[in-house]
Amino acid sequence: MSQFDYDLFVIGGGSGGVRAGRIAAEHGARVGLAEEYRMGGTCVIRGCVPKKLMVYASGYPGQVHDAAAYGWDAEVHGFNWTKFRAKLDAELDRLEAAYRGNLDRSGVVTHNARAVLKDPHMVELSDGQSFTAAHILVATGGRPFVPDFPGSDLVMTSNEVFKLDQQPESILIVGGGYIACEFAGIFNGLGTEVTQFYRGAQVLRGFDDEARGHVADAMQARGVELHLGCNVMEMRQVEDGIWVKASNGMEQVFDKVLYATGRKPNSAGLGLEEIGVEMGRNGEIKVDDYSQTNIPSIFAVGDVTDRVNLTPVAIREGHAFADTVFGGTPRKADHDLIPSAVFTQPELGTVGLTEEQARDEGPIEVYCASFRPMQALFAGHEERVLMKLIVCADTRKVLGVHLVGDHAGELIQLAGIAVKMGATKEDFDRTMAVHPTMAEELVTMKTPVRTA
Ligand code: NDP
Repeated sequence: MSQFDYDLFVIGGGSGGVRAGRIAAEHGARVGLAEEYRMGGTCVIRGCVPKKLMVYASGYPGQVHDAAAYGWDAEVHGFNWTKFRAKLDAELDRLEAAYRGNLDRSGVVTHNARAVLKDPHMVELSDGQSFTAAHILVATGGRPFVPDFPGSDLVMTSNEVFKLDQQPESILIVGGGYIACEFAGIFNGLGTEVTQFYRGAQVLRGFDDEARGHVADAMQARGVELHLGCNVMEMRQVEDGIWVKASNGMEQVFDKVLYATGRKPNSAGLGLEEIGVEMGRNGEIKVDDYSQTNIPSIFAVGDVTDRVNLTPVAIREGHAFADTVFGGTPRKADHDLIPSAVFTQPELGTVGLTEEQARDEGPIEVYCASFRPMQALFAGHEERVLMKLIVCADTRKVLGVHLVGDHAGELIQLAGIAVKMGATKEDFDRTMAVHPTMAEELVTMKTPVRTA
């Protein structure tokens, strides 16, 4: 009989923690898991899932408009925020219950409490209980970061945006990353007046430059008022909203202000410093390839480690940890060539190197097509799709794929398999086109637009 209450205690019931706990339990471990808020974590409760449902909601007016262009007698008559919110809340309740059900069925004991580490083998819960465990996994995710400035207490973050009681008439969104650009599209599609400030020269830093430009142009053409090289100086509550003064001299009153200026590892107040767990400057828990910290009994997965902050990555890290420690099969999560999508409108899908990264590594060929897809052309849209392949001139391997257009997220999942397998440009070319589709362009681009 073990000297510990549990073989594994997981702190955090999000994507990484839940997967790790379930798999460890399936390997026969006695697992406890503490979650202080709602089971499911950021992804399910206030991230990917509600965001994607809002993306869908915001896309319908455009589709109805297109339906009319195709001959339907169709019109949009306003969005019922209250009705949507009620359905959204019910769906999140359903998903949370499913998460709890899965944990119960796999034998994980859940504790609805905040847990703090007391020593390398002990946690203390906010409900007064303490437990010892052979291993402790910290999977506490991240939290939104808002910079300090006069009036910063007036803003909301992605934590609050899903809880708005009313649809704002106007919104200022600050930031140029995933969350800022996705919500700019969502609110714009729902009919809110959207202004976006980004401090840099182009949104979506880190993505392929051409893809960034393409998304930014399309967002503006759809109605987002985007100000680049622009930041907030101060804001104040006034009678009809929030008065904002910007670094470009602009002064305007907005109904709501959403800050999407990055996220930080959620590692404060967990007792980590006290027991000597090594952390980085941003508060990220330092781990090795097996998600082990400098204290052998303590592991960490997901956003709290600030490696690649995406749900599927946290899930893989949690799974690999459980297989390694409890399944007898040491395994690292593979962080190479991770496909991902930004659910902007239009969507951006990406895998591998950007043109800018690739040309620093050796000679490349760039294949790129920008065209108006058939369905949209018929409906009278000007918006173009972008398809781009970065190819190594020596090995012929496809180093990167960047797609902007409807369903780019779906397409990049499949392109990601090919790139992960090491497909060459010639492998793409000998794959027969599927006609008529947008994606056929991926296998029919014959001549590089440039070499570098
Ligand atoms: P990002 O790191 O993507 O973007 C943060 C943005 O805020 C950047 O544009 C940054 O500018 C700007 N910024 C940072 N500090 C300041 C400041 N002091 N003043 C003004 N602007 C500032 O973070 P997000 O919050 O958008 O998303 C967090 C993470 O969540 C992402 O990195 C991603 O991993 C994940 N996520 C993934 C999604 C998906 O897969 N579709 C969707 C949503 C989130 P600069 O570029 O100049 O640094």
